[in-house]
Amino acid sequence: MTAFDGPLVDRFGRVHRDLRISLTDRCNLRCTYCMPADGVPWLAKQNILSTDEIERVAGILARLGIVEVRLTGGEPLLRPDLVEVVRRLALIEGESGPLQVSLTTNGIRLERVIDDLVAAGLERLNISIDTVRPDRFSELTRRDRFEDVVRGIRAAQASPLRPLKLNTVAMRDVNDDEFCDLLRFAQEHDAELRFIEQMPLDAGHIWSRQTMVPSEEILEKLSAQFTLTPVGNRGSSPAEIYTVDGGRTTVGVIASVSAPFCGSCDRVRITADGQVRNCLFAREESDLTGLLRGGADDEAIARMLRQNIEGKRAGHGIDDPGFLQPQRPMSAIGG
Ligand code: SAM
Repeated sequence: MTAFDGPLVDRFGRVHRDLRISLTDRCNLRCTYCMPADGVPWLAKQNILSTDEIERVAGILARLGIVEVRLTGGEPLLRPDLVEVVRRLALIEGESGPLQVSLTTNGIRLERVIDDLVAAGLERLNISIDTVRPDRFSELTRRDRFEDVVRGIRAAQASPLRPLKLNTVAMRDVNDDEFCDLLRFAQEHDAELRFIEQMPLDAGHIWSRQTMVPSEEILEKLSAQFTLTPVGNRGSSPAEIYTVDGGRTTVGVIASVSAPFCGSCDRVRITADGQVRNCLFAREESDLTGLLRGGADDEAIARMLRQNIEGKRAGHGIDDPGFLQPQRPMSAIGG
């Protein structure tokens, strides 16, 4: 028996199919809920996984049953060789064909590279936007880049990438008065909006349940102006989906805190500096870089990945009395 026999499965029988790779911890925004104003101490360049290393580990994971790879960060569009990363990953054969490659981005710079990304094999795109008010955007992100984001969203709308998704973190007294405007904005741009409950992953460790807007309240606010009908049968998708006004558009709510979906979690994450995490909230990481750079063969790397997944906890534990926020903020883990 080799480390490649059988699916990548944990103690609870969850089979892992979905890989998230953070391509950089750097970002061109400083969202107040994610990063401090002065940024965080950046990872040293030599510690960031190279394109060759990313390609190799994605190939190993494809042999272990991973079928989807989402590229994230930090801001993945800041990585100069992003198009090459996409091109190489999209050529890797998984169990049921080539890996499906998608990207989560803030949209800045997207206009310039979207055609190359599509040509390289990118299949799907999520763009994050927490407000449709330019002044509020500058306050929330500490950068005056609203128009750049909108240009990125328009470029995505004009591209063949569908479904195009927009992500919004719901925040009390920050954007909870514009949920309906955000949904209308998404509809105007032919996009599906996903609201995300705010999670305790901020660099400042200031998250609290009081400032978090639970899914129930998000739905209540949307229902004031739209008729939402649950679609059901979400599989391993983190979002609960609703059709809007019985029409073609949908809206989703990712209730990571109030209604966690850990029981169907099929994700494994790799940070920009090559640490494997089996959960956003994992307290432990496994050092992939050490193995990759220390001459380990594919079998040894596959064994380590298996061990990491075997150790996955049943749930993220935000509600446990002993819950501790991870040391790394979201920008360093990869959202
Ligand atoms: N820079 C890219 C972007 O803006 O989409 C990718 C990285 S960003 C960390 C990925 C997603 O995580 C974004 O949609 C962001 O809003 C979300 N995010 C960051 N901190 C979060 C938190 N504390 N709770 C929930 N979502 C968060």
